[in-house]
Amino acid sequence: MKRICVFCGSSMGKGDRYKKAAEELADLFIKQNIGMIYGGANVGLMKVLADKLLAAGKEVIGIMPYHLINKYEVAHNGLEHFIEVETMSERKNKMAELADAFIALPGGFGTLDELSEVLTYNQLRICDKPLGFLNTKNYYDKLLAFIDHAVEEGFVRPEHRKNLIVSSDVNELLQKLKNYKPLETEKWIKDIKKESKD
Ligand code: AMP
Repeated sequence: MKRICVFCGSSMGKGDRYKKAAEELADLFIKQNIGMIYGGANVGLMKVLADKLLAAGKEVIGIMPYHLINKYEVAHNGLEHFIEVETMSERKNKMAELADAFIALPGGFGTLDELSEVLTYNQLRICDKPLGFLNTKNYYDKLLAFIDHAVEEGFVRPEHRKNLIVSSDVNELLQKLKNYKPLETEKWIKDIKKESKD
């Protein structure tokens, strides 16, 4: 994999375990010569990753809408590759275009928005690029439990739930991303059409 897009908090989270996870991921990217695409900010876990990769001379591409750059002044000014876009949607499309895969570290609404879009696109085969949850401190367990609930209630297909990639170990997560196989859309589209007729 040449480039991975990382979604993660604009905050640091509580304690130092989240920062450590971001550093471990940066070390893995450095070791495997993987470039990073991200939101382009100089705050939170995003900054931890970007600074470490930049210090090692690795490729870091930041993508940010104009209004965020001007309004919040949180753009990382050490980036050689910085792409300015009009909207948040355009940013996500650009991220998806340039990345070979995605990793979601712990984060808030911004991270949840980004990871949900990728999972939806993969489900519809608009994009066939895997997303892995880095489950540091079991951060995503409650979201995964909610997704299990959505499966039980018939709103998420079991095969889509099974296809989620989760690990708290950066090496294992990267290996799982490399082994990812997209699911066929035909069967579940046929199933939901049938279900809606009954
Ligand atoms: P959050 O998880 O709410 O902290 O938002 C972080 C995620 O949303 C990142 O992956 C970014 O791509 C995007 N994002 C949210 N806030 C910012 C910001 N101030 N600057 C750049 N990107 C941001």
